[in-house]
Amino acid sequence: MRIATRAGRLVLLDPQDGSRAVDVERASAGQFVADPQAVYARWAEFRDWAASASFDSAAPVADTELDAVTPRPPQIFAIGLNYRDHAAESGFALPTEPVVFTKYASSLTGPRGDIRLSPGNVDWEVELVAVIGTGGRDIAEADGWAHVAGLSLGQDVSDRVTQFAAPPAQFGLGKSYPGFSPVGPSLVTPDELRAAGLDPDDLELGCLVNGESMQKGRTGDMVFPIPVLVARLSAIVTLLPGDLVFTGTPAGVGVGMTPPRFLQAGDELVTWCTGIGELRHRFVAA
Ligand code: ZN
Repeated sequence: MRIATRAGRLVLLDPQDGSRAVDVERASAGQFVADPQAVYARWAEFRDWAASASFDSAAPVADTELDAVTPRPPQIFAIGLNYRDHAAESGFALPTEPVVFTKYASSLTGPRGDIRLSPGNVDWEVELVAVIGTGGRDIAEADGWAHVAGLSLGQDVSDRVTQFAAPPAQFGLGKSYPGFSPVGPSLVTPDELRAAGLDPDDLELGCLVNGESMQKGRTGDMVFPIPVLVARLSAIVTLLPGDLVFTGTPAGVGVGMTPPRFLQAGDELVTWCTGIGELRHRFVAA
């Protein structure tokens, strides 16, 4: 199953190729509301309905019409240094516990469009984003996937000057300028990925600037895979339906290059993940 947000309303995408969508509130005769954030509290029920939903009323939909999959998540977790090669390029030792910070919800944006540069050095970080379905506390690692509604794709856009303005480094603010958290184009359930012959624990992802590949990695290289993150986070925090977990970035960020390279006005950033889709953003002057 694939879902997305179009004009602020939850849509179910055609399982064939995602090019058509039905409006969930209308197609379910009001059983489920249009608010894309509300569905996660009734995730199991929604999945049952979606499995037999009719696509008779489906209309064409393009990525350019979509908004962030989850416009108002109750909580946003982000994981730092979760790939060996990225920890190495950043000059940090491999973490023995997940490095957790937050990106503020006002920085969310959709899969297409312009992003205004912040005053500092703006960098890219392709990340797989897990969306929590059923929340809870003290979730066992073995049950981790059962609490994930699905996967989406994100960018953890980062202003490195704000991040390292003064010691110690702080992550949340420099990664939360408006538009610095694109998520989309859709949410894909793990079973949908398996049906396509993909392994939800080992997806290929990357990003390009003006057509030049900057990052390319596999989520199978995460230091703390998604079920481990669900277990470690829920050991402390109550996970809520619709929470987002940005799961960290592989190597290839601009700040790790010699010389460092950052986004400039006019640059196009294309972010991709096998089985999920593509984000496409143009950066504009501050
Ligand atoms: Zn990140």
